[in-house]
Amino acid sequence: MIFRQFFEPVTSTYTYLLGCEYTRKAILIDTVASEVDFYIEQLEALDLNLVYTLETHVHADHITGAGDLRDRIGSKGVVHRDAGAMCADLLVTDGVELQVGDIEIKVLHTPGHTNGCTSYLVDDRVFTGDCLLINGCGRTDFQQGDSGVMYDSITQKLFTLPDDTLVYPGHDYKGMTVSTIKQEKALNARLGNNKSREEFIDIMNKLDLPYPKFIDEALPANQSCGQPDKDRGAIIQG
Ligand code: FE
Repeated sequence: MIFRQFFEPVTSTYTYLLGCEYTRKAILIDTVASEVDFYIEQLEALDLNLVYTLETHVHADHITGAGDLRDRIGSKGVVHRDAGAMCADLLVTDGVELQVGDIEIKVLHTPGHTNGCTSYLVDDRVFTGDCLLINGCGRTDFQQGDSGVMYDSITQKLFTLPDDTLVYPGHDYKGMTVSTIKQEKALNARLGNNKSREEFIDIMNKLDLPYPKFIDEALPANQSCGQPDKDRGAIIQG
């Protein structure tokens, strides 16, 4: 598998490119609108055809490149059914598997940061968006966030993956690029080392985070896939 991790510094967002060496089909996870020219350059340089852009959720901190990529190179947008982005081409639910060349992508519904959050499991890697971060997790005080639900998503879904599964988050603010399930189970300051649901909820309640910088423009834009658009989602249920 061809694999790249891209970093957008303004919002500290990671975007992932996964490509099949044989069919040259590719996907991008969590694109950023300002980086679309760069993604297209990279796809061309690697001789890859973009089939899907996958969102781990409707972002509040940056605008997705999904709509622009769809218009320019014909990729299809994928998002969870509960994410509130009916403009996507495919609306997926827990357990759905997408096949792109020899890449198998399994959808894991991991709500808590938002109610439409998904993680994507590809072989020994899991792309966790703003659910599980490296030594942290996404905030739960906006967009139907719920700390208890996030605790259940992480402990019952992500922490039950094999220990050596590589964790690729949606963001990192300290320069970390990858972790493992084993490392997060042991060391995650918010819910590692068998912290209880109550302890986790208490930690999240006390974070006192500032209002997200770009939420007022990013949310409505992302609910229309990065651009004003029409309804089009076809639902695939798992
Ligand atoms: Fe987010």
